[in-house]
Amino acid sequence: MSTDAVAEIKARLDILDVIGGYVSLHRSGTQHVGLCPFHAEKTPSFSVSQPRQVFHCHGCNEGGDIFSFVQRIEGVDFPRALEILAERAGVELEKSPRAAARGAGRRRSLELSELSAKYYEYVLWSLPGGEPGRRLLAERRVDEGLARRFRVGFAPAGGPAGTALVRFLVRKGANLSELADAGLAGRGGRDSFRNRLVFPISDERGQVLGFGGRALGDAVPKYLNTPETGIYHKSTALFGLDQARQALRERRVAVVVEGYFDVLAAHTAGVANVVASSGTALTREQVRIIARHADEVVLCFDGDAAGRRAAEAAVEICTAERLKARIGVMPAQYKDPDEMVRVDSAGFGALISAARPEWHVLMDWTMGEVGSRPEERRAAGERAAALLSRIPDPEVREPWVKEAMRRLELFEGSEFPKRVAEMAAEVTRARAAGGRSPARLSAVPPTAPVAADASDPGLADEDPGHPPASWEEFLATYAVQRPALARLLVDEMGLDLDDLASPAVRRILEAAKAALPGAGLPLHTLAPGDRRLAARLSVHELPELRADADPVALERAMADCVRRVWRAAIRDRTGREIRELFATPGPEDPQRDENVAARLREMVAEERHPPRG
Ligand SMILES: [Zn+2]
Repeated sequence: MSTDAVAEIKARLDILDVIGGYVSLHRSGTQHVGLCPFHAEKTPSFSVSQPRQVFHCHGCNEGGDIFSFVQRIEGVDFPRALEILAERAGVELEKSPRAAARGAGRRRSLELSELSAKYYEYVLWSLPGGEPGRRLLAERRVDEGLARRFRVGFAPAGGPAGTALVRFLVRKGANLSELADAGLAGRGGRDSFRNRLVFPISDERGQVLGFGGRALGDAVPKYLNTPETGIYHKSTALFGLDQARQALRERRVAVVVEGYFDVLAAHTAGVANVVASSGTALTREQVRIIARHADEVVLCFDGDAAGRRAAEAAVEICTAERLKARIGVMPAQYKDPDEMVRVDSAGFGALISAARPEWHVLMDWTMGEVGSRPEERRAAGERAAALLSRIPDPEVREPWVKEAMRRLELFEGSEFPKRVAEMAAEVTRARAAGGRSPARLSAVPPTAPVAADASDPGLADEDPGHPPASWEEFLATYAVQRPALARLLVDEMGLDLDDLASPAVRRILEAAKAALPGAGLPLHTLAPGDRRLAARLSVHELPELRADADPVALERAMADCVRRVWRAAIRDRTGREIRELFATPGPEDPQRDENVAARLREMVAEERHPPRG
């Protein structure tokens, strides 16, 4: 019976459009290729042939036509795939009685939801009873045109019986069981939404599936959503998706916020590529839907601890779904995007454009300011390891491990990467066992900085794959950003430039020392390699160099670096002397061993007396 329908659908739909909605494809010869959605891969082995209207992956051997593709990617059976594609192609299907009944039920729920949206809109804008809703919108500075575009409405109290919508829809021929099926009324026949501002939640084509209702004043619950129905599933619902589609197509970036008002505020600020998960934390299904419309998300959640936790959870889901994520960090003075836009609309747009890669921000939050005391460093290292262990793919994880090492001032050869890998294996095991990933893992091995190699610790090397970041890099950063500090370091704090292991850092500090008072670092006096290093350090943000920073914090940080340079130099010198002692010929030499022991004792004693006490 459905062969005709299959042929008709195939004639109307192009496989490139169907698959292109899920996979980003590009032309390669007569084929279109992309990353296979059915197995994890880095290089495309998934190809689509437009002339033959088939797809095939030579990585996992998945293949077929649009029907097999939709079955596989949506996780549905053939009849459902047929329904999905028939709807898309505009083909009427003859159905089995059961499927027909289910389809009819869904269609009825869609009709009633649409009627309800119209009713709520009418109440909001045209009835005296809608006044509280209009007042709430005005308080939130929501423009009427915008509110109308989103079809915001108002659900009246409905008298003592609470049945305004029910009475309206029954007059339109609905029965109570249909209303309950659509989630518009409870089984007891009362309206689901009473005395609330209501936001219709639609599918991507704008069909209303359900509603989110915001209470007036302090009534509870503050937000109420349509319960699960045949058409509304909170795990897949995305508020604003229909209004964002055009902008998503153009930008391929989706901004994800927490609330209805945040979505409206983003539009007010000119950010139209925005959606919100409604009434739930961002789910895997929602992320999959977003990934069909965008190659990247910007998470912009509330600025409080709950918002941070939500962002962290969302990042984990995006990582699992291989969707690139950035985080827009709410400035401390604003609660959420809605509040920010009311005060600083342009600032919100800037915040979205300046959003930083997800793990950068999560590391900021998790590690905090890395102190200089060993136990502080250990704790920060442990927090960083626990965070990064949540990235399952070692290749994705690696650059972030290096970034964490840079922040922790750890050198190559440190135990840190091994520690992260072990914890990641534990997380993977826990996930495979069906549990949630452990929040924090125990057993804390010290991740103390490994002493610098005697050679230049990679500072002159501009290869970004190297995580040098030592106290020397900090000193160079101080000198680059405030050349006057170089003189202070040398003259007052006892820094001996010859103790510096990195020749590049030494040259930068020398140049800074030679700078005229009040002038910038004379970059032109530096060789190209040093200049590149200086340029990189000039944008390095150190909290102690901020204009409003505590000068004592800066001095402490500098003194700490000076001590480390000095200590590393002693170790380095001692090491060299000892190597020389051992290099002297002769098998057994008690005198030599005595000299080594004496030198080591001296080193320990020397280390106890840093410059300037
Ligand atoms: Zn494959």
